[in-house]
Amino acid sequence: MSSRDVETEAARRRTFAVISHPDAGKSTLTEALALHAAAIGEAGAVHGKSGRRGVTSDWMEIERSRGISITSAVLRFEFGDALLNLLDTPGHADFSEDTYRVLAAVDAAIMLLDSAKGLEAQTLKLFDVCRARGVPVITFVNKWDRPGREPLELLDEVEQRIGLRPAPLNWPVGVAGDFRGLVDRATGDYTRYGRAPGGAGLATEEVVPAGRAAAEEGKAWQAAQEELALLDEIGADLDDAAFRSGSDTPVLFGAALPNFGVRALLETVRALAPAPSPRPGEDGTPRPVDAPFAGQVFKVQAGMDRAHRDRLAFIRVYSGKFERGMTLTHAPTGRPLVTKYAQTVFGRDRSTVDVAYPGDVIGLTNAAGLTVGDTLYARGPVVFPPIPAFAPEHFMVVRTRDNSKAKQFRKGIDQLDAEGAVQVLRSDLRGDQAPVLAAVGPLQFEVVAHRMEHEFNAPVEMNRLDYTVARRTDPDSAPALARLRGVEVLTRTLDGSLLAVFPDKWRLRAVEREHPDLTLVPLLAAG
Ligand code: GDP
Repeated sequence: MSSRDVETEAARRRTFAVISHPDAGKSTLTEALALHAAAIGEAGAVHGKSGRRGVTSDWMEIERSRGISITSAVLRFEFGDALLNLLDTPGHADFSEDTYRVLAAVDAAIMLLDSAKGLEAQTLKLFDVCRARGVPVITFVNKWDRPGREPLELLDEVEQRIGLRPAPLNWPVGVAGDFRGLVDRATGDYTRYGRAPGGAGLATEEVVPAGRAAAEEGKAWQAAQEELALLDEIGADLDDAAFRSGSDTPVLFGAALPNFGVRALLETVRALAPAPSPRPGEDGTPRPVDAPFAGQVFKVQAGMDRAHRDRLAFIRVYSGKFERGMTLTHAPTGRPLVTKYAQTVFGRDRSTVDVAYPGDVIGLTNAAGLTVGDTLYARGPVVFPPIPAFAPEHFMVVRTRDNSKAKQFRKGIDQLDAEGAVQVLRSDLRGDQAPVLAAVGPLQFEVVAHRMEHEFNAPVEMNRLDYTVARRTDPDSAPALARLRGVEVLTRTLDGSLLAVFPDKWRLRAVEREHPDLTLVPLLAAG
């Protein structure tokens, strides 16, 4: 395979994620996108909350009992000549750290808004991560089949609250709740939607000429035409470069559930979302997409499925062609890694992957020793910058409940640390038997306790610590900080960084005021 083929394959890939607040319709939209691209036959087969096929792991019991999605699926589907990789993200706020890591591996994001609610808390946090990472954002206003807000008001909210300049690509005819169809702003074409019989599957679509639309849609058509004229007047057109640099967002309207406007969204992803581009290494040198294979672990997960009780490291390919069986170098250790067991994960199903190109995600099973952020390459050396860990807000001391299980305890904690399921913090004072676990959301602890008992056979007890804020510090400041009331200094095992933890932000502020010489650096905000 020549480098030209790698370039061609890379150019047709679009790797993206959907960010949204819980209940905005992410699962529904994911299914609708896949349905449209005909990757699955019937909406609901991927990971629909009701029609989920066989719940297979203990872990999923937590997921099911709480009605939230913990595991991530990587969906891939062909759409015309494009190949779309949709990296699913857990929706629950407690798992946001996982979501953030996924955003490190995509080239674009769809920001999904509920038309009645506009920008919500979780959307804002996730958008901040996109902005920090320079990920371009396409906005999809969902649930237009239900009563909601005015389209112009929603655009205004996007502009005022997050400073993105909205450029609507289509415009709804009929207010939310009385939705008739969409006008494509570039062509002027009007597509009218109707519900498919029985409510499932693809909506019916009809392209209606303007004259007939004016007669048949009456006032709704007139209102839409006036708004469209207004948009033209204020010049709300998309500037492609501004979209890529993160200052403009193309906006589309629709409804995922009845499949209104989903194809326009797919077409927009294909036309506008950037293809994989040269990824800068730690030294700042971009690695061309046609360089030999290199990629980065952005997620490690175990116990996803009882039938596959193993550890899966997800790797985003940044350059070159991956071929199953090839030997890679694990950059942090310099050790060789044989990739006999490479897989793709589609919903709950897995299949073997033989080749992969830039933009693709591969899963390596039983990849002991692989940690989030690790670089792998066929010919290098290259090291991609680490994927930042987020500021924890919840802290627990963890101990084994059974002293004869000390070995299993250590192994389990080490693995959960490597996966990034929680952050593991240690100090000489506390000793190895009682590390501190730090998390963005408390639900992560529940997953840890469950997995320690069932997967590692090492039941644990946990005790909450009264800290809520962490700051990065350095060896010079650490001793002074550790002597202050209410403050503790711990080492994060994964990256060796020193964290000072505080009961609350007021105590932190007091320390900052009284000791301006001490190093206290904010961590990447979890929100
Ligand atoms: P998630 O939490 O973001 O994954 O949201 P879901 O996909 O589970 O959707 C939340 C609820 O909104 C479900 O009851 C969906 O059926 C409903 N929903 C999603 N999209 C639409 C839509 O376009 N129109 C309407 N009326 N309901 C929708």
